[in-house]
Amino acid sequence: MNRHSVHEWSGSRRLLRELRDLMKAESTTQVRLDQVVAMIASDMVAEVCSVYLMRAGEVLELYASKGLKPEAVHRTRLRLGEGLVGHIALRARPVALADAQSHPEFAYRPETGEEIYHSLLGVPLLRDNRVQGVLVVQNVTARSYGEEEVEALETVAMVLSELIVSAGILTEDETRHSEGASVVPARLSGITLNDGIGMGYAVPHHRGIVISQVVAEDPGAEVLRLETALDEMLGRLEHLIEKQDLGGAGEHQDILETYRMFAKDRGWLARIEEAVRDGLTAEAAVQKIQTDTRSRMAKVKDPYIRERYADLEDLGNRLLQQLLGAKGTAQEDDLPDDMVLVARSLGPADLLDYDRSRLRAVVLEEGAPTAHVAIVARALGVPMVGRCKDLLSEVRPGDFMIADAENGQVFLRPRQGVRASFSEALEAREARKAAQAASRDQEPRTRDGTRISLMMNAGLLIDVSQLPSSGAEGIGLFRTEVPFMVREAFPDVAVQRGFYARVYEIAAGLPTTFRTLDVGGDKALPYWSGGEDDNPAMGWRAIRIGLDRPAMLRQQLRALIGAAAGRELRVMFPMVAEVAEFTAARRILAQELAHGRAAGREAPSDLKVGAMLEVPALAWQLPALLREVDFLSVGSNDLVQFLFASDRGNPRLARRYDALSPPVLNFFRSLTRSADAAGVPLSICGEMAAHPLDAMALLGCGFRSLSMPMSGIGPVKTMLCSLDLPALTAYMEGLEGSAGHSLRERLRGYALDRGIAI
Ligand code: PEP
Ligand code: MG
Repeated sequence: MNRHSVHEWSGSRRLLRELRDLMKAESTTQVRLDQVVAMIASDMVAEVCSVYLMRAGEVLELYASKGLKPEAVHRTRLRLGEGLVGHIALRARPVALADAQSHPEFAYRPETGEEIYHSLLGVPLLRDNRVQGVLVVQNVTARSYGEEEVEALETVAMVLSELIVSAGILTEDETRHSEGASVVPARLSGITLNDGIGMGYAVPHHRGIVISQVVAEDPGAEVLRLETALDEMLGRLEHLIEKQDLGGAGEHQDILETYRMFAKDRGWLARIEEAVRDGLTAEAAVQKIQTDTRSRMAKVKDPYIRERYADLEDLGNRLLQQLLGAKGTAQEDDLPDDMVLVARSLGPADLLDYDRSRLRAVVLEEGAPTAHVAIVARALGVPMVGRCKDLLSEVRPGDFMIADAENGQVFLRPRQGVRASFSEALEAREARKAAQAASRDQEPRTRDGTRISLMMNAGLLIDVSQLPSSGAEGIGLFRTEVPFMVREAFPDVAVQRGFYARVYEIAAGLPTTFRTLDVGGDKALPYWSGGEDDNPAMGWRAIRIGLDRPAMLRQQLRALIGAAAGRELRVMFPMVAEVAEFTAARRILAQELAHGRAAGREAPSDLKVGAMLEVPALAWQLPALLREVDFLSVGSNDLVQFLFASDRGNPRLARRYDALSPPVLNFFRSLTRSADAAGVPLSICGEMAAHPLDAMALLGCGFRSLSMPMSGIGPVKTMLCSLDLPALTAYMEGLEGSAGHSLRERLRGYALDRGIAI
């Protein structure tokens, strides 16, 4: 078997050069492609190499093959989502399988004669982020393709994609759907604002407002009209606040209250009134302020402030609607039963206007996970995808669309194959949910009997209220900054204490670890400015602010101590970079405890103080750190971004480095060994713990406690109950010396071969 190392591959340009020379040759397209696949097959030591190209925006046609029967070329066609090839194209991800035929997506095509080939490695041919085909190699033996081979084929695919275009193998006409551009399926990328999958018909959120009169005849009367419309709008908002029944948690009420405060914002109203006094009609004045707000918004980078501008814009729209008596989209009764709401941005009250029973998903061009509308979507359980560039120019009213918020992608006008795949995915998701609900009370124990602790992450009361049904044993990370971010003013000690006391009540005795404020940098509070940071993730944030402005930290700790009264208090500090920072923070906590005792207040029954390990420097102070802390929790979101110096929020870098890679896994392994030796409890609370394959790798590195978003608890529990931990640990120890970009495919292969439920 030919095993290239990555080094050899990136160094060996021979194949790539030969490929390029071949494509430039004077022979026909078919001859050139046939030579290309033969060359790749020989270089990869594969019996088969095939190229499938996308035609008419939906069909993958076998264009050339070395190894499959010649009569299948230009005859075998697979729809997007059909078979392994269709699957690779649909998900735009490589697939490596030692036993391809036992994979549920395998679709047998008799004309190809492929029944004798057991293993398959396929990668998408991507150009401008769009899939234009799939490159596949197959072997007779059950070959486990290593990550080097996946990478090698990806490199070849990259070159091939360029060549396909430059050699004119596929013309634009061939790729375009025959029925014209408006029905061409499209895939848009975005980010997940609320997990889930939803499909239905596109309903653009607009109100069709047309202003016919701009100049006022009687400015006094216009001021009156404005005031009346404002009163009515407020009345409707009050009604919305009263009408909502989103469970007993509470933030959505806070949000709507905030919203109401915005509506009463003097600055905003004063600007509208001023425009009326300048001679505009009330509606023209509102629209003018809307335009101003929009242009200000375009200049603002801070995500929180942008969202607040979006709230104001939403209010402006409602006011216009009120002034013009226009019917809102949400009130129209000809809305489809299955609808996907699309908008540039959306306010929380807007979302509440729609009939929840018809709303399958929401897709936005803008939006951030901390946006009010995203929080309301979570409360309502509506899948939501945000930051979908070009959404509004691509989608037409009534288009069928799929919002895959699990993977942050949207499919417009998908063909039947894609729809069928997602219908199945949706059913599987429902079935999984049901199975997970059934496994809720099952103990998280691996097959060999190792007990694993599964905790959930939370940031809102809405999350905490799901704790009893989540199957988690407690809250491993409560992000206290989140409630601060949805408020309009800094909450004082009493408000904070009341909030944390609610958390304790709802958590009903299950352990909860509060992380002190992780604000600053990119997590801005509207009422507090820490100044500009050139490099926000590495800026003045978290414990750095806590120690430099101890009053804020002190108030929070006082509120936590007060709320804990008579119960266990678990606190951890974020972004600790050196032991001295931890001891300084702990000292403040001790002072606050003493302060409470002196004031005769009931103290917590027990106290555990820990640090988050998310700055790599801390790992080189472990002996001293482990003597000081009661526990450690790895923040893998930040840790991985700092290890690779790769911004966690930059979509361009999202797939560049993999957490399941030798540097990260080696780091974790040495960490768990040190913590175990010192007898200090160690857990991990980044998002990666929620993905079964990643969670498997974490257990293999020695973690025994994982904290994750609630959605991960069920799948991770199912995974670990099917896992033989000593065998995995031994296998992963064998990988310790490996190099390369990622161990993901190898670990996936390990899991699939052993029936581990990833
Ligand atoms: C982390 O960094 O992994 C973490 C859990 O904290 P946050 O995502 O809030 O930065
Ligand atoms: Mg962090």
